[in-house]
Amino acid sequence: MSKKSIIIEPDPILRKKSESLEKVDSNVRKLMDDMLETMYEAPGIGLAAVQVGILKRLIVIDISKEEQKRDPIFLANPTFTYKSKDTSVYEEGCLSLPGHFAEIERPAECHVKFINYNGEQEEIKAKGLLATCIQHEVDHLNGVLFIDYLSKLKKDMIIKKLKKHKKEMNKIIL
Ligand code: ZN
Repeated sequence: MSKKSIIIEPDPILRKKSESLEKVDSNVRKLMDDMLETMYEAPGIGLAAVQVGILKRLIVIDISKEEQKRDPIFLANPTFTYKSKDTSVYEEGCLSLPGHFAEIERPAECHVKFINYNGEQEEIKAKGLLATCIQHEVDHLNGVLFIDYLSKLKKDMIIKKLKKHKKEMNKIIL
């Protein structure tokens, strides 16, 4: 496995729509492993392929809190079959928006169909944090970030801060 670098907003690739995978083969599994390692190291609870610069409809999620009880889920070509009318609010962050958090309201429950790590069709009925996390990650595949749900003022402020943060990171690298 090898760690990949995570793309930080603002970056035009984060706004692109990802393409479906034809199948889950050994190359895709290698990418899944790399994404999982990258996510654990960050650390985060979800990562979409676009966040490491690959425009494929692929996400990894692990909401288990303890390192000893890791429970990763790999979702290729996820599609929602149900979203509840009930909503819930979580404070969301994003590995592509380091240091920024906001309360976001989303359907409290969702059902999602996808191809799993073994290349089989699977469906998950998610509630709570997992439901929010899946919706956040599927948004990435459609070029949507959680800041898009905020007021223009708040969103612009966050993007401005991130631009500054990226400039400073580049200085250090140089
Ligand atoms: Zn994110």
